[in-house]
Amino acid sequence: MVPTAVDTDLSPAVTSTKVSTKNENAEAFTTNELPNGQYLLDRNLNKNYPVVVRGDGNYLFLEDGRRIFDTSSGAAVSCLGHNEKRVIEQMNKQLDTGVPYIPSLFYRHRLVDQLCEHMIRDTDHKMKKVYLTGSGSEAMEATIKLARQYFWESNKETKRVNFIARQSSYHGNTIGALGISGHAGRRAPYLPFLMDNVEHISDCNPYRQRLVGESNEHFVERKAAELEAKFQELGPDTVIGFIMEPIVGAAMGCVPYVPGYMKAMREVCHRHGALFILDEVMCGMGRTGTLHAWQAEDVVPDLQTVGKGLGGGYQPIAAVYISEKVVNTVTNGSGQFIHGQTYQAMPVQASAALAVQTLKRDLDLVTNVRMQGKYLEKLLKEKLADHPNVGDIRGLGLFWGLEFVKDKENKIPFGSSQAIAQKIHDLAISEPHNIVLYPGTGCAGGVSGDHVMICPAYIVQSDDIEVIA
Ligand code: PLP
Repeated sequence: MVPTAVDTDLSPAVTSTKVSTKNENAEAFTTNELPNGQYLLDRNLNKNYPVVVRGDGNYLFLEDGRRIFDTSSGAAVSCLGHNEKRVIEQMNKQLDTGVPYIPSLFYRHRLVDQLCEHMIRDTDHKMKKVYLTGSGSEAMEATIKLARQYFWESNKETKRVNFIARQSSYHGNTIGALGISGHAGRRAPYLPFLMDNVEHISDCNPYRQRLVGESNEHFVERKAAELEAKFQELGPDTVIGFIMEPIVGAAMGCVPYVPGYMKAMREVCHRHGALFILDEVMCGMGRTGTLHAWQAEDVVPDLQTVGKGLGGGYQPIAAVYISEKVVNTVTNGSGQFIHGQTYQAMPVQASAALAVQTLKRDLDLVTNVRMQGKYLEKLLKEKLADHPNVGDIRGLGLFWGLEFVKDKENKIPFGSSQAIAQKIHDLAISEPHNIVLYPGTGCAGGVSGDHVMICPAYIVQSDDIEVIA
């Protein structure tokens, strides 16, 4: 049965397919000096990306007159959809005060205080403080440094220099964050620059790694034993921490933790005095049906990053959550985090993130994520489980991945030269479909494969889910 929709009052105003594509501001920004946008170093220099002129709810409108259903919220970012006037209003109000930026070296701002208070309350005070950055990668850099500082300066455990992360993982594109990441394709050109004190253990991918007939418990035990063995190999008192994404996004295509896995991994870390660190940049802030993914298992991390769903695309903002243990140790040590960037904790970022988070709470959107997520799961499985090239359908909340295989029985992927995920994206975004799917060619459980991710805005209703599936 189709679940009853939560009345969000946010469903897109546009119901007709006949839409205006006139961008009121276009003329002001178009000059002869920039023909066809050729001066931007695009993500892919050989691609001609469609030009967006405006957004509304689940839809983006293109210069060529088409309306695209945004099933991926951009890159799992636009959790409230596009053009949410209540967020824009709060940002404008803040901009009107004349201080979109203040130097965090000298001042603080009440909106930033309010945002941090809101964020800590949302953890039921299980985390103690928040450090604000401009992107997920920066949040990961800050996390790496804070974790090291926790041992180096405050605890005088200077021998702790190693991180353990997972093979199929993505934690950002800056050199430190990429050093933690296991994503082989993104690491390859930069290997000489990446930290050599990061060890990667296997990820947790039941589709690829569970033995025939193996129980969850046994699977988790094997994974915890692998982490324990890595601690022993490195020397337990040399390890700073273990870093993982609860639900792996870009590197595997929405592969969730197995129940009990996070708890077991945290136990290994804590047994050896190391930190348990979660990267929820993609899967956090409500996307999986709880505000933080760890809340579903009540496994509180020592450090945690969040990003995309924090500002919902209205401002670039991300954050590190810091537990009491780490806060106290640094406070009683030097009393300062030896880090900082010009653009951090900006009032205009805080105004957007606070508005996004307040709306999310007031409209009970995380409940909608759970309900609509169940419906999405049902439809995806009904329609695609028997498809000969769909190997796995997995996810949580509104964060779903489809993994494609050439040979379903033997789980053999298409070769990377076939670029299947990209071809599916290209087909979906074209007429007559006009929907965007988030393609990836990550390394699924050690096997290089193709996937697409489906991660719509939290405002979706049942009829939107039917468009997607
Ligand atoms: N961590 C995870 C899990 C991510 O998915 C990403 C980006 O996709 C990042 C970190 C890096 O975030 P950003 O692209 O905002 O730097």
